[in-house]
Amino acid sequence: MMENHFDQKVRELRGRELETNGLDILQVNVGLKCNQICTHCHLAAGPDRNELMSWETMQTVIGVARAVRPKLVDITGGAPELNVHLRAFVAALRGDGHNVQVRTNLTMLLEPGMEWIIDFYKQSSVKLVASLPCYLKQEVDSVRGEGVFEKSIAALRLLNAAGFGTESGHALDLMFNPEGDFLPPPQAQLESDYRRELQNNFGIRFNNLLTITNMPVGRFLATLRKGGNYEQYRQLLRDQFNPATLDRLMCLNQIDVGWDGLVYDCDFNLAAKMPVQVEIPGGDAEKGKKRPCHIRDFDPATYLIRRIRTAEHCFGCTAGAGSSCEGALQ
Ligand code: SF4
Ligand code: SF4
Repeated sequence: MMENHFDQKVRELRGRELETNGLDILQVNVGLKCNQICTHCHLAAGPDRNELMSWETMQTVIGVARAVRPKLVDITGGAPELNVHLRAFVAALRGDGHNVQVRTNLTMLLEPGMEWIIDFYKQSSVKLVASLPCYLKQEVDSVRGEGVFEKSIAALRLLNAAGFGTESGHALDLMFNPEGDFLPPPQAQLESDYRRELQNNFGIRFNNLLTITNMPVGRFLATLRKGGNYEQYRQLLRDQFNPATLDRLMCLNQIDVGWDGLVYDCDFNLAAKMPVQVEIPGGDAEKGKKRPCHIRDFDPATYLIRRIRTAEHCFGCTAGAGSSCEGALQ
């Protein structure tokens, strides 16, 4: 495997490359279809994407979850609700006793035909992580489209009314990522700003705010390139490299299963089309050859401890306070 700048940096500091140390989070990307087309999307999700995880692949994921018993199954997309098998998938995972989290973009909850979904999430005791890139209308609409802020607020009100984000115990975290090519502000400070503004202006409550750095992959990379800002952003991420984040990177203890069943170290590697590679079994002719790992071939005994595939975008996880799908690392 060729060493890139991130690998070199890691090797300088740790004396070896990045390796996993187990599996706590099984992240599942059930499809790239989305009702929005956000400029900062690390995938290129949108209404015209038709890549969706099949029920067959979901059944394989359910089997792997039974075998490895992760602390959390984290369902993402696109908009996960646009996969018609989501309900059966969540029900099967919850039936097996897993903690299940679904990432929602909020507006999807208001789409026609989705009237059942909040009650289903509640009855299934699913934890929700809702993306809301700001508490101000202008910022949200500029990234996500006209009218998205108002719909997001309406969806949050419905979630609060159903008990999410309140004392009733149904968890609702919000997720912030910047509108553009800069790092998130300190998470604790921003959480208190969100709490104040959303409570005072709309009476909305939530549990925690998670900040995530925009990763230079997918549509956000295209947006950066189009604006001529890629080099500057790349340099910012490199300059802000924080060695203290290395031991907390989310890829150390997770896998991410793509809609087609391919296995990745994280959803950003999925966006960058960098699946986990496995040895091809066979005789001398196949020695040393590798192919992408599919979840049906995922052997926990072999692949829970593996070298992580890295690239330039990994500097997005180590910049400043660090970044992950579970928020800042420091
Ligand atoms: S950022 Fe989220 S809501 Fe926006 S297009 Fe991408 S997947 Fe959809
Ligand atoms: S993008 Fe982040 S989480 Fe993914 S492999 Fe790189 S450092 Fe790990």
